Amino acid sequence: MPDPVIPDDFATIVTDDTGGGPAVPPIVQTSLFTFESVDAFETAFRAPERHAIYTRGLNPTVRAFEEKVARLERAEESRGFASGMGAISATLLGLLKSGDKVVCVRNVYPDTYRIMTGLMARMGIEAVFVEGTDLDAVAEAMTGARMLYLESPTSITFDVLDLPRLAAIANYAGAISVIDNSWASPTFQRPIEHGVDLVIHSASKYLSGHSDTVAGIVCGRADLISEINRVAYPSLGAKLSPFDAWLLLRGMRTLPMRMRQHHRSGLSVARRLKDHPAVSETRHPGLETRNETTLSGFSGLFAFRLKGGAPAARRFCDALKLVRLGVSWGGHESLAFPAQLGLIQPGLTNPFQVFGVPDDLVRLHVGLEDPEDIWRDIEAALDQCE
Ligand SMILES: *Cc1c(COP(=O)(O)O)cnc(C)c1O
Repeated sequence: MPDPVIPDDFATIVTDDTGGGPAVPPIVQTSLFTFESVDAFETAFRAPERHAIYTRGLNPTVRAFEEKVARLERAEESRGFASGMGAISATLLGLLKSGDKVVCVRNVYPDTYRIMTGLMARMGIEAVFVEGTDLDAVAEAMTGARMLYLESPTSITFDVLDLPRLAAIANYAGAISVIDNSWASPTFQRPIEHGVDLVIHSASKYLSGHSDTVAGIVCGRADLISEINRVAYPSLGAKLSPFDAWLLLRGMRTLPMRMRQHHRSGLSVARRLKDHPAVSETRHPGLETRNETTLSGFSGLFAFRLKGGAPAARRFCDALKLVRLGVSWGGHESLAFPAQLGLIQPGLTNPFQVFGVPDDLVRLHVGLEDPEDIWRDIEAALDQCE
């Protein structure tokens, strides 16, 4: 089995926090910072991006997290948020205005679909959804668009997109390109190196890696981050807390090692699922042979479908013991999510229904447990649903 390719400097970036002093940076758990004189206060007010005044503006622990992710993603600037959706909403609302059009790939994260078709539509921002693998359709939809919004691989269907070409299409149309890179993490995909302008993470997933915090970040071109900081970030107020930033810094120290394990275990489980008689289809980006891809490895999240339909998917999930049932992913634990639950979720619009997600599909997150233990649990559960 080929090993994933992890950039040489990654282990150093995730472990290197400071020069001298404590090995672990402190949690600067304060809402505000005080000044000795009006002169000093004024200096801070004149350059709030460099001086800590209030934790919703700048906090040293949060800043350490922001700088680390920016280095891993090769980004000029970054801004942390209270959640992935905090980062996504501030990016969309900070860079788009009434009358603008955003072109978005199908099968994006459900709440990204919901903000585009709900709140943003209400504000007069149009969203057009296209198949991201169809480059001609994307290019055509880009006429008059201000932004191209990507996810690769896409949520639930795990379609791998051609980032260099898509970034070039956006650039040619004079639009900003944005990608949600939560699935691959910067360990396996650095979209900025392929021409994408902004990279978003739900840091609740692999960056944290321990299922103990909800957080987000956007990084990329300095002019765009500065616009998000000016227009959306302070007014929407989804600031990252110092304690959560500290948990993220701690989790990220093992990011490359965890990703290597997710890669190996995920591929090994996916290959065996593909050959199992109860399984009709396995959607894992590593099972397709592709020459040109911007992924240097694969994470532990993918999906498969059961020949026995939705009832079999339900029986399979109920029979799991080590693999637990839950939303989210990216932590140490293996998780299963039956798509039939996404299909019944109430709301304005249901993206699973709109995108036609099949009800016999199960999304699996292969965690950091022993891969043979994980497979034994899955195999035993598959026996229950034939
Ligand atoms: C979870 C997730 C989000 C949302 O992140 P939160 O931290 O839960 O707000 C966005 N994009 C993707 C791909 C996700 O999986």
